[in-house]
Amino acid sequence: MSFLDIHILGDPVLRSVSKPVTTFDEDLERLAQDMLDTMHAAPGVGLAAPQVGRLIRMFVFDSGESSGAVVNPSIVWSSEETQESDEGCLSVPEIYIPVIRAMSVRVEAQTVKGEPVVWECTGFESRIFQHETDHLDGIMFIDRLTDERRKEAWRLIREAGIEGRPPRRPAPAEKNL
Ligand code: ZN
Repeated sequence: MSFLDIHILGDPVLRSVSKPVTTFDEDLERLAQDMLDTMHAAPGVGLAAPQVGRLIRMFVFDSGESSGAVVNPSIVWSSEETQESDEGCLSVPEIYIPVIRAMSVRVEAQTVKGEPVVWECTGFESRIFQHETDHLDGIMFIDRLTDERRKEAWRLIREAGIEGRPPRRPAPAEKNL
């Protein structure tokens, strides 16, 4: 089990656009497993490759109902119906703000072995998939807020001194057993 450094808001890697995965090998599977271990230890429910300093289009998640790695995701359909709920991010620690997201999405993706897969997500899982897919385009959840909430989020971020913090590696002791 390996834990990876989680990059924090202010790090340019989080604002970069990730490249599609083209090589499906043992290294990719190992990275996916390390990301899952890191996410669980943090603890979190989603983690995208740029958050661990890798600019490739992959994220991992654990919604409680299902979990795994999602490679080269593309949101091909979003419901008009929306949902609003508090959202956080391992790269913006301690900040939770309500974000409006599509209630349901259909996501075409690949497995770590390169097999095509379609995810039909709703509710919490849909929220995770939208949040993590955004990371692959350098978009953070604080960009998705209403103007008023974005101002409030940045006030909280400045107060907490989050921006520019060095990468953080979850310690095994933090793991929720
Ligand atoms: Zn995030």
